[in-house]
Amino acid sequence: MTIPESSIESPPLELHVLGAGIGESIVLKLPDGRWGVVDCYNASPTDRDANATTLFLRGRGVTKLFFVCLTHPHDDHFLGMVELIKEFQPEEFWRFGCLSHEYIRNLILYNQLIAARSADDALSRSAAELLKLFAVARDGAKEGKMTVCRLNSRTNPYPNRTDKDSTFQIECLSPTGRQIELYEAAIIDCVGRDGKIAKKLPRSIHNEISVVLKITYGETKIILGGDLEKQGWRDVVVEVGGSNLQASAIKVSHHGSDNGYCDGLWERFSASGSPIAVVAPRLRNGLPTSKALTHICRHAKKIYSTFPPKDKWNPPQSITEIKDASLDSRLAIRECFKARPDWIGGDCGRCGIIFDESKLIEVQLDNPAQKIF
Ligand SMILES: [Zn+2]
Repeated sequence: MTIPESSIESPPLELHVLGAGIGESIVLKLPDGRWGVVDCYNASPTDRDANATTLFLRGRGVTKLFFVCLTHPHDDHFLGMVELIKEFQPEEFWRFGCLSHEYIRNLILYNQLIAARSADDALSRSAAELLKLFAVARDGAKEGKMTVCRLNSRTNPYPNRTDKDSTFQIECLSPTGRQIELYEAAIIDCVGRDGKIAKKLPRSIHNEISVVLKITYGETKIILGGDLEKQGWRDVVVEVGGSNLQASAIKVSHHGSDNGYCDGLWERFSASGSPIAVVAPRLRNGLPTSKALTHICRHAKKIYSTFPPKDKWNPPQSITEIKDASLDSRLAIRECFKARPDWIGGDCGRCGIIFDESKLIEVQLDNPAQKIF
């Protein structure tokens, strides 16, 4: 990939959202040249050569990551992460800030019991992968090879304390203390002392402790929403305050579900101008929904999708007219609808969005990623 140098006033910040209609992976190139990955999805987790994230990084000549971040323990966000860590040896592993090892044991045991009860191979494979991932993190910390950072809404993982003058920073907005408390209580209660399932864990409970990251680079602000759902967002709004949620780009949370935002959230995202929205569909659950896209398009400048949504969605006519009239001609957006590049494994699309300190530089779309608004 080449970016015309004349258009760049400061080192670029690159955001690449990858998705094949199931899970998602986000690759970041930070302005200081370091690379990070937030979540990872590979349908064949042990096959590195089928991992779109790995192939993309190799294609860009990356041999080492600065960080890998796990937003929450759902397999559409962690399958393939173990192999990714082994290959790119990140200096830091960031993870949702709940669950000490005793709780993790309970969660894994619960997942194994559910998998056994439903005789579901995919579920037991996920439980095994999650166990492996936590073991890799623990061993990395034990051997001093990887710093493990547990994120919550009061954590600023980058840069570290010694680099206060940086114009670039990554803050964590979620999980809030309240959601962590509720989640850990549910994890303890889900398995009884007899080692049997005691209380059902709703799948959505894991979303409420999803990490949300806010990346600030001068005037550029990017919010990566993870899979956070409504109640978690309400707590974030209360805790961080509405004015801290203005953004230039949003990775839409929870694959564009009706529950992926709370009242007033998108109004806050767009308070200083309409952001670009990027969604990574999860087709099995019918995500994104038309209802969520219709809501988002009232506040977003554009919506890009890593994969075509399942249901055909057309933005309301009135919205299209207003947005077209207010398009900012200062933004030179080049949209490349090109043939599938070599690094892609399967039908994984990529939305690449490049910023400098003050503005959008470029949007890149690799098939089947597309602009949907
Ligand atoms: Zn997900």
